[in-house]
Amino acid sequence: MRYWELRRAVVEAFRFMEERGLNWGHSGNVSVRLPGGLYLISPSGLRKSRMGPEDLVVIDGEGRVVEGSRPPSSEYRLHLAVYRARGDVNAVIHAHPLYASVLAALRKPILPIVEEVTVYLGGPVEVAAYAPPGSGELAENAVRALGDRCAVLLANHGALTCGSDLEEALDALVYLERAAFVYFHASLLGGAQPVPPEALELERRMYLARRRLL
Ligand SMILES: [Zn+2]
Repeated sequence: MRYWELRRAVVEAFRFMEERGLNWGHSGNVSVRLPGGLYLISPSGLRKSRMGPEDLVVIDGEGRVVEGSRPPSSEYRLHLAVYRARGDVNAVIHAHPLYASVLAALRKPILPIVEEVTVYLGGPVEVAAYAPPGSGELAENAVRALGDRCAVLLANHGALTCGSDLEEALDALVYLERAAFVYFHASLLGGAQPVPPEALELERRMYLARRRLL
């Protein structure tokens, strides 16, 4: 994808999230890995659904702005930590989806009660230990809880998803919120039955093969 198309795709991602109730207002941040150790990231402080492609910022691996006039997202440490830990990841989304945030507030992992949790997210969605927003500690906790999977909950805060491109990270966010929605409602009706272990094993292999981690 060409550079300006990529900028437009990031802007579109915010509109997509807001239309579907996956993120609101000034919250949330999206980044994409660029060649040469650089990262395109959303800026801090703007209403994201009204942002234009020119508002995005390019930072280096230390979070220094190398292109753009706005400050980068205050969660840039979170994004950079995921890129450092995961060579297979080229896009990261941090958002505040409603049902995922309920489980993040409960500090309750999402167990694989629907097939998508393992096939697309890699397994149970763990909860990263609490740390203040924007902190290096939050970044460390999130990377540890994420492991080799594509989604993690941030305690009392929201969620993070990632993928080999922006579309995959966005898909992961949709699968995460659907799983959280199903898990929440199934819990109200007595609790969901888990996917059988032999199916989980097969689904986990499918996930790893697609991410070329096998
Ligand atoms: Zn947040």
